[in-house]
Amino acid sequence: MALVVQKYGGTSVADPERIQAVARKVVERRRKGDSLVVVLSARAGETDRLLALGHDVSPEPNPRELDVLLATGEQVTIALFSMAVHDMGEEAVSMTGYQAGIITDRAYGQARINWIETLPIVGKLHEGKIVVVAGFQGYDDEGNITTLGRGGSDTTAVALAAALGADVCEIYTDVEGVYTADPNVCSKARKLDRISYEEMLEMASMGAKVLHLRSVEFGMKYHVPILVLSSFTDAPGTLVTKEDEEMEKVVVSGITYNKNEGRVTITNVPDIPGMAAKVFRPISDSGINVDLIVQGSSGTPGRANISFTVPKTDFARTMRIVERIAPEIDAGPVHGNADIAKISIIGLGMRSHSGVATKMFETLARENINLKMISTSEIKISCIIDEKYTELAVRVLHDAFELDRAPLGRIQIQEES
Ligand code: ADP
Ligand code: ASP
Ligand code: MG
Repeated sequence: MALVVQKYGGTSVADPERIQAVARKVVERRRKGDSLVVVLSARAGETDRLLALGHDVSPEPNPRELDVLLATGEQVTIALFSMAVHDMGEEAVSMTGYQAGIITDRAYGQARINWIETLPIVGKLHEGKIVVVAGFQGYDDEGNITTLGRGGSDTTAVALAAALGADVCEIYTDVEGVYTADPNVCSKARKLDRISYEEMLEMASMGAKVLHLRSVEFGMKYHVPILVLSSFTDAPGTLVTKEDEEMEKVVVSGITYNKNEGRVTITNVPDIPGMAAKVFRPISDSGINVDLIVQGSSGTPGRANISFTVPKTDFARTMRIVERIAPEIDAGPVHGNADIAKISIIGLGMRSHSGVATKMFETLARENINLKMISTSEIKISCIIDEKYTELAVRVLHDAFELDRAPLGRIQIQEES
């Protein structure tokens, strides 16, 4: 008998029929003897709908109240789901983030889980009940409701699996696992049977929304095996796990894209110590996360251009801040471009193989795709390009690195299991 945490995404619980279908799956599993904690998202489209409703009433909704509003989406599904389970003859108990003891900081809209008070859930599990927890929500030390950021139900699930010492965390979604690229963009994308936490972390942070970034961080830190699978088929899925030697042999495991950033350039910044700090201090004080930063010559002696990217949602605010600072530090005009995309290739094997970046640049150059910024880490290379080339870039890179063909290491792993 295992302790299993399962999470079902919005499309898996989109309507009454799907809720009943998932309930049937869960009941069958329970009858095989496993203890189950089921984490649910809001129905597909519901969080967007609530968000729009909030903005209809108030142009800049109060953050605390917005979280109270958004958290209702998940509360609906846990109640409906538990009713369906009862009708099938098993006992289920729904729990909000508050009832499930999920304690966060107070960063409304992007709260981080600080700890989980496991006793309420453990008590219900001991009574033999299926525990059904609202994803995406928690509460702070003063009892305020918080939400964990878009896609945050994955993080609820993996954090619960870590806190409860579950044997596995199963993430059920609308695709059959983690692919070499978004299967909805690249028809040749191939499902991976395994991927390391480290690669998954890079893929999630570079835009593959199949797993919420912080869920992978929890999984890696607490060694939770994460299995990503389809709610609609019985295909085996993808295991996110510790890296092994076979994984190291694969140079590039996946390609991601992110259209959610904008680029800001400040021209002719005086090239003297302390300037970068003066530019970025007010941005970070405003709670804006800067991603890529590139500083280069401006063509004028003693002057430099500084370009950086920020989330699109913070782009207008960042432009206002930077336009204010530029004259204060005697810099030139500020340029902004929100129509960009970040394309990244990720793989453990990059640590030991050279020429990967060159191949990426040559492939994009053949399609006349201009590179606006480049950044690298040990297992990742990212390029900023014009947004309109996103899908083309993903497809040509997928072909160039032959990701549709299973590398030898991966085939051997499949045969053994
Ligand atoms: P859920 O509602 O179940 O949480 P999401 O929409 O958040 O589902 O995540 C699943 C989606 O992630 C898929 O439909 C797919 O379009 C997208 N995706 C992006 N990159 C990948 C990838 N590398 N592998 C699988 N899915 C991906
Ligand atoms: N319902 C939330 C969202 O749409 C959380 C989630 O689905 O993971 O972002
Ligand atoms: Mg999701």
